[in-house]
Amino acid sequence: TVRRTTLPFTLLLDPVPADAPQTEFDDTFHEVDSDAPALRVGELSAQRGDGVFETLGVVGGHPQAVGPHLARLGTSAATCELPEPNTAQWLAAIAHVVDRVPHEGEVVLKLVYSRGVDSGPAPTAWLHATPAPDFAVVREDGIRAVTLDRGYPHGVAEQAPWLLMGAKTLSYAVNMAALREARRRGADDAIFLTHDGFVLEGPTSTVMLCRGDVYVSPLPSGAILHGTTQQSAFEHLRAAGERTEYRDMSVDELRSADAVWLLSSLRLAVHVTELDGRPMPVDSERTRTLNAALLARTV
Ligand code: PLP
Repeated sequence: TVRRTTLPFTLLLDPVPADAPQTEFDDTFHEVDSDAPALRVGELSAQRGDGVFETLGVVGGHPQAVGPHLARLGTSAATCELPEPNTAQWLAAIAHVVDRVPHEGEVVLKLVYSRGVDSGPAPTAWLHATPAPDFAVVREDGIRAVTLDRGYPHGVAEQAPWLLMGAKTLSYAVNMAALREARRRGADDAIFLTHDGFVLEGPTSTVMLCRGDVYVSPLPSGAILHGTTQQSAFEHLRAAGERTEYRDMSVDELRSADAVWLLSSLRLAVHVTELDGRPMPVDSERTRTLNAALLARTV
């Protein structure tokens, strides 16, 4: 049996190539003191935000949606031209962390995969587990959102792939600035729009709306992240006999929806109570059943 530790808990990982023949990875990661220095000053993740990451929830000792998170880490790495991550190694490291963190309540597990130290040949990586904030109130009460222009047209991912739109890069300064702008406007969160009025995503979440008898999220076409929580939500809804659809969504469609949610790995499903200062209809019952299903995930 493994001794559980207190949070935070940090593991440094020495990434091995995806095609390495090894199947044992215990000697490729080691625990470090979360309060002690662990990264080099030349670390490009710190200097340029040049790397990718994932954040997943560990609920009751179960890491949630590990497969979709690691798949997206691979997509993000490919988009950024980083070496393909070794999935077996990441799975071993995640299992190591999960064995050691508290198995009650919710824990945040962040996976970071960086280009490495400047002029160094190899990427660096680490896993960091922290206590989850208490989201009980916001999951029940919902949030006020404002729409913000992302400044790009529809189709930007194809026209300018170097903007890395569909990759979960460490460059989140713009996303954090959008949250501050939302707060300045008296709201809690933001929903990015293309310059020509299509719904993209939140700075840290995926948009889902309900209209009539169908649940809709924007096409994960490369301009936004394919949300792991949104994928789980669609699975749950389909299992409950509901219709789900990915398609382009105009801001007018968002404003006139029967309900709007923002979905993300830690906060899970929160309904939007107010959009750009105007009240939105909410479906509290659907939010509760969605969150119960999302919290109950064991894979
Ligand atoms: N879109 C962005 C930009 C995000 O940062 C996130 C999560 O942080 C999401 C969508 C939602 O993804 P997930 O449900 O996998 O957490």
